Amino acid sequence: MIGKKIGILGGGQLGRMMLEASMPLNLDISVLDAAYDYPSAPICSKFILGDFTNYEDVIKFGSELDVISIEIESVNVEALEVLEAKGKTIYPQPSVLKIINDKGLQKQFYLDNNIPTAPVRFYNDKSEILSEIENGTLNYPFVNKLRKGGYDGRGVSIVKSKDDLNLLFNAPTIIEERIKIDKEIAVMVARTREGKMVTYPIVEMEFHPTANLVEFLFAPSDLSKQIENQATALALKIAEKLDIVGILAIEMFIDISGNVIVNEMAPRAHNSMHFTIEGCRTSQFMQLLRILLGLELGNTKLLQPSVMINLLGEEGYSGLAKYEGIQSALETDGVHIHLYGKPITKPKRKMGHITIVNQDLEKAKDMAKELKEIIKVKA
Ligand code: ADP
Repeated sequence: MIGKKIGILGGGQLGRMMLEASMPLNLDISVLDAAYDYPSAPICSKFILGDFTNYEDVIKFGSELDVISIEIESVNVEALEVLEAKGKTIYPQPSVLKIINDKGLQKQFYLDNNIPTAPVRFYNDKSEILSEIENGTLNYPFVNKLRKGGYDGRGVSIVKSKDDLNLLFNAPTIIEERIKIDKEIAVMVARTREGKMVTYPIVEMEFHPTANLVEFLFAPSDLSKQIENQATALALKIAEKLDIVGILAIEMFIDISGNVIVNEMAPRAHNSMHFTIEGCRTSQFMQLLRILLGLELGNTKLLQPSVMINLLGEEGYSGLAKYEGIQSALETDGVHIHLYGKPITKPKRKMGHITIVNQDLEKAKDMAKELKEIIKVKA
């Protein structure tokens, strides 16, 4: 089992953290991605230069391996299907990636399985949307989302009035009703090939009071037990219906009436779950490795309250990354710094993250706010 050759499509920070988790087991993990200065390159067994969206590159990479996984979902699924048919173990399965990679199919999956989600309509291009606005069958506000290729909020436009019509995408999209959001949360499910499942503690996002940006994420959440149970049950239902083997992060909204509404999902390690590295008995990365190796699931218990902040490239700075304030953070008890090793910073680029653990969650939140002021990624 340990001798299996494992491969990951994508060499960013998620792959890097999976490699970090794999080190004590001395696993053989190869990575496919486009440049030698990507976060995973210095610490993997073998870094293969190539394009994970390219059919030939994925086939060639996969042919040498026993087990294949991903750190990004926009990979060449056709190649993975061919490799799967040849007997390679591929988790999450290509069939799951097909549904999740297209927000239209993902929405249809929720509708087919009675999963609560924002009401949706489907469009081939911008002109179809404009004509519905003109004839009065589509009203503001609404949310326009690209079916394919969006990430980190690029690919999502909130259209409040005709002044925002320039934000519409001219491509296959969906339009969702705008939910009156009270809270945004994420739930992670891990599922084995035998169908055994566990969930992680729910993580809640705290938004900056004025700038509409996530300030930090924390666990345990402030949700009522009832809402927490509802969200967890929904997550388990989704993983089961998808029949996914692997880890699945599901982003949900709690609306102002207390309804739990599924926003979207990712079949891989997820930014919102980075707190599991120090906060939980088994991290999301170790959990995926256990599933790939056919081991029993690890315990997901929250060991201590945790707060996570992303270290984003500071606005106005592009170039060779320079970090400010790291030393004082490193000297503070309970502060865990993760730098992803990206040589170049750009505004809002994810350059690292920090997890603060403390028996007192409120103390950890205050520390997170302070650290956000101290630690800067500039050039
Ligand atoms: P991405 O895949 O780029 O992260 P999301 O679907 O998560 O895109 O949307 C990004 C953000 O836009 C969400 O976190 C939420 O704040 C807002 N948003 C998305 N869909 C809706 C919706 N239907 N109603 C209200 N806000 C939404």
